[in-house]
Amino acid sequence: MNKNYDYVLVGAGFYCSIIAERIANDLGKKVLIVEKRNHIGGNCFSETNIETGIEFHKYGTHIFHTSNKKVWEYISNFTTFNSYYHQVLITYNSKVYQMPINLETINSFYNINLKPFEVDDFLEQEFKKESYTNPKNFEEQAINIIGRPLYDAFIKGYTIKQWGRDPKDLPASIIKRLPFRKNYSESYFFDTYQGIPTDGFTAIFDKLLASNNIDIQLNTDFFEIKEQLNSSATIIYSGSIDRLLDYRFGELDYRTLDFEFEVVNYEDFQGTSVMNYGNQKIPYTRIHEPKHLHPERTYNLDKTLIIKEYSKEANREEPYYPIGGEVNKSLYTKYLKEVKKVYPNLIIGGRLGDYKYYDMHHVIENALDTYNNLIKKGC
Ligand SMILES: Cc1cc2nc3c(=O)[nH]c(=O)nc-3n(C[C@H](O)[C@H](O)[C@H](O)COP(=O)(O)OP(=O)(O)OC[C@H]3O[C@@H](n4cnc5c(N)ncnc54)[C@H](O)[C@@H]3O)c2cc1C
Repeated sequence: MNKNYDYVLVGAGFYCSIIAERIANDLGKKVLIVEKRNHIGGNCFSETNIETGIEFHKYGTHIFHTSNKKVWEYISNFTTFNSYYHQVLITYNSKVYQMPINLETINSFYNINLKPFEVDDFLEQEFKKESYTNPKNFEEQAINIIGRPLYDAFIKGYTIKQWGRDPKDLPASIIKRLPFRKNYSESYFFDTYQGIPTDGFTAIFDKLLASNNIDIQLNTDFFEIKEQLNSSATIIYSGSIDRLLDYRFGELDYRTLDFEFEVVNYEDFQGTSVMNYGNQKIPYTRIHEPKHLHPERTYNLDKTLIIKEYSKEANREEPYYPIGGEVNKSLYTKYLKEVKKVYPNLIIGGRLGDYKYYDMHHVIENALDTYNNLIKKGC
């Protein structure tokens, strides 16, 4: 290993790839990226299924969306986006409904024909049957917003599968604002810009990391090479914060996902990119059908790729979603304090480093801010 890098970046997801791009192209300095997986792109990695030629997102469907002009202008240097517009559907008791819950969901579920201005009065009748003055948990809070029947159908089973916990054991604060619409709007996001990269996500990373100033070492765990690095190098770390200190205060809680890939003999299996499943007895939370992410592409096949998603507790190898809550929050703060003492030359960030769920546009913004405010100024 060449020891003479001024900057060593851990992880080839958006956080480190963008900082690497800026250091290499704006500062003109050499950087090393170490990535423990066998590919760049982090959780946004996309690849092609050999049997069908369909491009898919290995770690779950990713839709780019932002209203941040700075982020949009930056990322548009590396890709164009197609016109994909995200909509989510949910199957409950073998019938398909729109999500988040909107007027179509309510009318179809109750087999009625409400107008938007009649929704409040209708739900008022539901609240008379069950509502809570001081909601103590997620379930009571959700029932206060949409009533028991809609909660049981569309929120309860899905939440239990997704978080592995009874909503009665989750804090009410998680859903202060349950997405819920009294009109027929079916767009999942309301951002100014959205779409899927025309050539896929991995092509963005190929361009971000194309500079000769960037060396990438795949299949390499940072902790296995850390002692060989130049001791004055600035480390930019986007792995788990608890791993950085060898879990000395205990482990932060995460959920992770398992994906089951299958090629089925239909031109179109479910007519949409993501179908949620509300019934608790169906073990998967969602089925992804990635061909729908690229309506501009012609696949010409009587086969399609489907991916079933299962949620489970994370092991140390594959943490995905931070679970949060007060205990995890204070554990994270304890780690952060200690990291600053133990690693004075280290910048930590990204979804694992900050122990926070971030959408891609948040991570891109954070990475650009880190570069502009810390690295470029030599802090
Ligand atoms: C299922 C799912 C769906 C999502 N859908 C969307 C969506 O639709 N829209 C959206 O905007 N966002 C979505 N996101 C969020 C998006 O994935 C993240 O915002 C983004 O990936 C975060 O980038 P990052 O660089 O922080 O982390 P990551 O992409 O996770 O990159 C971190 C990298 O660090 C590597 N690493 C960790 N530890 C080490 C180590 N010790 N040594 C070497 N390498 C290491 C990891 O292997 C990983 O490649 C989704 C996330 C998930 C889990």
